[in-house]
Amino acid sequence: MSVDGLAAGDYSLLRELPAFRRLMETGARVRRVRGVYPTLTYPQHASLVTGTYPDIHGITANTRLEPEENGPHWFWYRRNLRVPTLYDAAASAGLRTATLFWPSAGGRHSARVLPEIIPVRPGEHLFSLVLQAGSPRFVLGMLLRYGYLLRGLRRRNLDNFTCACACRLIRRRSVDLLLLHLLDLDATRHRYGAASSEAREVLHQQDRRLARILAAVEHSGRSDRTAVVVTGDHGHRDVSARIHINSALERAGLQVRGGAGASRLVRWEAWAQACDGSARIRLSRREDAALRRRVAAALTALQGDPANGIARILDRGQLLALRAGEEADFALEASPGYFFSSRSGPEVVTAACPNYRAAHGYLPADDDYSAFFVAAGCGFRCGVELVKAGVVDLGTTLAHVLSLTLPAAEGRVLSELLTEKERTL
Ligand SMILES: [Zn+2]
Repeated sequence: MSVDGLAAGDYSLLRELPAFRRLMETGARVRRVRGVYPTLTYPQHASLVTGTYPDIHGITANTRLEPEENGPHWFWYRRNLRVPTLYDAAASAGLRTATLFWPSAGGRHSARVLPEIIPVRPGEHLFSLVLQAGSPRFVLGMLLRYGYLLRGLRRRNLDNFTCACACRLIRRRSVDLLLLHLLDLDATRHRYGAASSEAREVLHQQDRRLARILAAVEHSGRSDRTAVVVTGDHGHRDVSARIHINSALERAGLQVRGGAGASRLVRWEAWAQACDGSARIRLSRREDAALRRRVAAALTALQGDPANGIARILDRGQLLALRAGEEADFALEASPGYFFSSRSGPEVVTAACPNYRAAHGYLPADDDYSAFFVAAGCGFRCGVELVKAGVVDLGTTLAHVLSLTLPAAEGRVLSELLTEKERTL
């Protein structure tokens, strides 16, 4: 169970919530899970199910690095991942799998796929996208049974729907590996702030959903053979200012815009993709050393004024060392309080929208911004805590617990979390 936005900083509140407390007392936890760069939802989930980094699994951000003239290309699909996942390995071993709103799992071959996908391009329609990327019989069956919970697409209602579907699969013993992704905590933190009372209320709601999952496991009669794993993917940091990074590139003469409102990209030599707390920059001519120097100089000039909110410039070599993949020529890290927008605007820096108060996508960190992980049940020791680990270690460990081989995994099996029997397997 992935609770999007569940962070190390939530630890003290989680100890007060009955279902989380029960899981923590009876299971093993990692206080701080270091993410991969950039700390966006899709790369973290891909690293969790493959045990490797974006340069290998291919999910280098939430969307492709390309000018978004008609809306971004999200990494919705399993085919976007270049290496086998936990659910592939499970299916190959004859286990029955389900993925409910799990990132980058659309279009995979399985009887139980409820894809995370929404229309972002002209002419796309939600229902046909979901049926095409999901398992039609399964999706229709779940909609007939629990569609009344949706009442529009508010994240809270989606989480109720996902939880109801998960509980049914567990109670009926329909699956051996279930991956579900709950969205409301992340959405609420973006809207109201990382430590807002609204976010705390959503954590209480996620606790009640976890309680329903634990009750379903008990009802299934398979408690002794089941492990319940809850993980976050990244924290959030509060923001008050937005950097229109493509406007800065336009001012530097690296983009030309035209059309109505001068908003259409006519020509570009450098284009920036906002990844919330960071931005990735692509050159039109990647082998052009003079262009690379010109862009580097423009970025350095931009960083020179602290009001532009650029904390760091990363070059291609640094991005390769971060295992971020080869698509970007530069990346920028926003200063505290700032985040990036891909859209151009009249000013380079404007105030954040009132309904956007926290961001993620920054460089991975080992502080409260990192994710939280807890697992209890079959295979996991009771009451142990590891101070820190990496998200790639989690994927590698989960494969080990399920006796599966993840060919690309390069994390460490976190044997400290496992029972003697699991450790010696
Ligand atoms: Zn996320």
